Amino acid sequence: MRLDRFICKQTGHSFRQARLLIAGGRVWVDGQPERNPVTTVERFMTISMDGTVLQEQTAHYLMLHKPVGYLSATRDPQHPTVLDLVAPQLRPVLHIGGRLDRSTSGLIILTNDGLWSRRLTEPREKIPKTYHVVTRDPISPETHQRFADGIYLAYERLTTSPARLEQVAEREARLTIYEGRYHQVKRMFAAVGNRVKSLHRESMGEIRLDPTLAPGEWRPLLDSEIASVI
Ligand code: URA
Repeated sequence: MRLDRFICKQTGHSFRQARLLIAGGRVWVDGQPERNPVTTVERFMTISMDGTVLQEQTAHYLMLHKPVGYLSATRDPQHPTVLDLVAPQLRPVLHIGGRLDRSTSGLIILTNDGLWSRRLTEPREKIPKTYHVVTRDPISPETHQRFADGIYLAYERLTTSPARLEQVAEREARLTIYEGRYHQVKRMFAAVGNRVKSLHRESMGEIRLDPTLAPGEWRPLLDSEIASVI
């Protein structure tokens, strides 16, 4: 929304009055007088008029090392959730950017910035997500090509984007996928007759799980990590 319209809406002043107030330097945005009436008001800007705050909301971006056994949900009557691991005052505002199964560990992003998290997780954005996978059976040589060609997911009636499989050991690999469909990695391995025994997300785009975080620990994202999602 434009700043002049925002001032009308928040204060009840007419459009003409709002523009005069802005031109007079009485409206401040993020600690500075803002005299441009068509400046776009973003969700996390602090806006005040004559020293009275009209909008103030802090953006939160956290990375969490999800332990196995925790649900990617905001609350659950039976199981602990990833939100239980963060400071109580943050819990009501945060949502999860890219869920993991209860049996999966690794990188989870928590934020209150919905636009930003959609860019990170929407399949059409094609942000790479890398997983460390341990399988029940040896990974067959044709798995690389099958994953690179894409696996047909019958329920969604779509073929996954070309995925990159890097074999680490006979039953161990690093898999990079470009969507985040329900149980995607497990279903891809099932489609080639194998089974995932353990799954750990290492990265989403340029955001890598900080190796100093033990399971259950979190830290705020760095500015460079936030800015990497554009
Ligand atoms: N793919 C899965 O099958 N499970 C996850 O938790 C994440 C990706």
